[in-house]
Amino acid sequence: MLIRKLFGLFSEDMAMDLGTANTLIFKKKRGVVLNEPSVVAINNETGQVLAVGKEAKDYLGRTPPRISAIRPMKDGVIADFEITREMIKYFLFKVREKSRFFRPNLVIGVPSGITMVEKRAVVESALEAGARDVYLIEEPMAAAIGAGLPVESIRANMIVDIGGGTTEVAIINMFATAYCESIRVAGDEMNESIIYYLQKKFQVLIGENTAEQIKIEYGSAFPQEKPIRFQISGKEVFSGIPRPVQLTDRDIREGMAEPIWAIVDAVKRALEKTPPELVSDISRYGMTLAGGGALLKGLDKLLERETGIKVHIAEDPLTSVVMGAGKALMETDRYTKVFIN
Ligand code: ADP
Ligand code: MG
Repeated sequence: MLIRKLFGLFSEDMAMDLGTANTLIFKKKRGVVLNEPSVVAINNETGQVLAVGKEAKDYLGRTPPRISAIRPMKDGVIADFEITREMIKYFLFKVREKSRFFRPNLVIGVPSGITMVEKRAVVESALEAGARDVYLIEEPMAAAIGAGLPVESIRANMIVDIGGGTTEVAIINMFATAYCESIRVAGDEMNESIIYYLQKKFQVLIGENTAEQIKIEYGSAFPQEKPIRFQISGKEVFSGIPRPVQLTDRDIREGMAEPIWAIVDAVKRALEKTPPELVSDISRYGMTLAGGGALLKGLDKLLERETGIKVHIAEDPLTSVVMGAGKALMETDRYTKVFIN
């Protein structure tokens, strides 16, 4: 025990958010030291890993036939164990400090829907990469802690974490999850709807990364104060010729309507299925949005209109999970109950 404590003093303990779109790592005393896309580029013929993270994301939609850019966590479940393992190991290796050879403790945020087998795979990968002890925490719990919600309190907290592959709606109190639903509709689905909409309405094709840029820059879930007009450049469906298209913010809202309403419905469902006492807490304190999707303009307004409940946006939605996992790491005694066995 004493030895463990001593080791603890020297080790560089870390928290990791293994997201469907982005992986983040937090270190004690340093804060967020890594923030990269959860993407791995591999050679199909040899299975060799060619790039991981930022570099691999650039391959999306641009890969030569022999190369695939894979997002192993895309659906909130581990699609490919081997690739996930390589990714975890690569990121942990990247943030390792050479001067320190003590093995770190690790807290990892995982999607709430993953199976025992998947959890074991995550733990094993971290151990192989040199971790000493690995603790798992469910992402909605970590997001709630990171957003500063009083998860230990008897009062109910509602957190809606909109990531790339999944949206998780959870109601949390007394260090436990009273309700949780994970749907496979989030940021990726918004990008795909934009692609589909432009193809159907304007007969132009655009790639995934372009759709994401359009969403971030011009997308909204609720009419904004000033209408926006902008131009994009796509590829004509039939001829393959490049063609500019004039669009408005309204077009993009229309294009993304389906995934946005799926998220609104998931939030309404959570309220329907939760006991009245808890719902009354939520209506008093509001709900909190986290994850990159929380940054979609007007989503807070739309949810407020649809539920009548005040919507707060976490201070830095893209880092809520890793900050929450980091807080749990720094105060393991206080947060023992939130770790999954
Ligand atoms: P995950 O936890 O699943 O890895 P993140 O919380 O990192 O996901 O969020 C990534 C998603 O958020 C992506 O789909 C990205 O396009 C989206 N996103 C990031 N910034 C914005 C923004 N300003 N507006 C709308 N969506 C955004
Ligand atoms: Mg996430």
